[in-house]
Amino acid sequence: MEYDPETDEYICSKGKKLRPLYDRRSKNRNGYVSTVTVYECESCQGCPYKDKCIHGNNCKTPLEERNKRLNVSKVMKQKRQETLERITTEYGTQLRMNRSIQAEGSFAVIKEDMNFRRYLYRGKENVLAQSVLLAIAYNINKLHFKIQGGRTGKFLTELKAS
Ligand code: SF4
Repeated sequence: MEYDPETDEYICSKGKKLRPLYDRRSKNRNGYVSTVTVYECESCQGCPYKDKCIHGNNCKTPLEERNKRLNVSKVMKQKRQETLERITTEYGTQLRMNRSIQAEGSFAVIKEDMNFRRYLYRGKENVLAQSVLLAIAYNINKLHFKIQGGRTGKFLTELKAS
């Protein structure tokens, strides 16, 4: 649905306005308090999309008498927008590319090049010890190649100019 920030209203595919009714606060198991704004359509009477648009079959009010309601967390929406803006900047794109090279590449090197397929020991402490040894070996190997290639002090691969 289209959102009009001036009036704080959503406009549905039938051109009807969904206006804010009230804010609902709730607390989750971790104690985080979130606020959701409930919007309601001005009138869904006679709309042919009603059965697809309105969800919640357990509602006691018959579908014919109901109007579409929309729950929106404004904080979540804002954070999502901020994140999208951050990850699509040049620096954000570079970080995403490096994440895939560095994190996923490490697993590939450990599994394929170092031929590490399974832990040799059982138990949390033993698995942790083996993981630490593996990480040390991987890091020494990586440092060696960085020194050989004269790439020390460089942490991020540059983006290729298109
Ligand atoms: S059911 Fe209501 S909100 Fe959904 S498309 Fe129809 S008029 Fe719009």
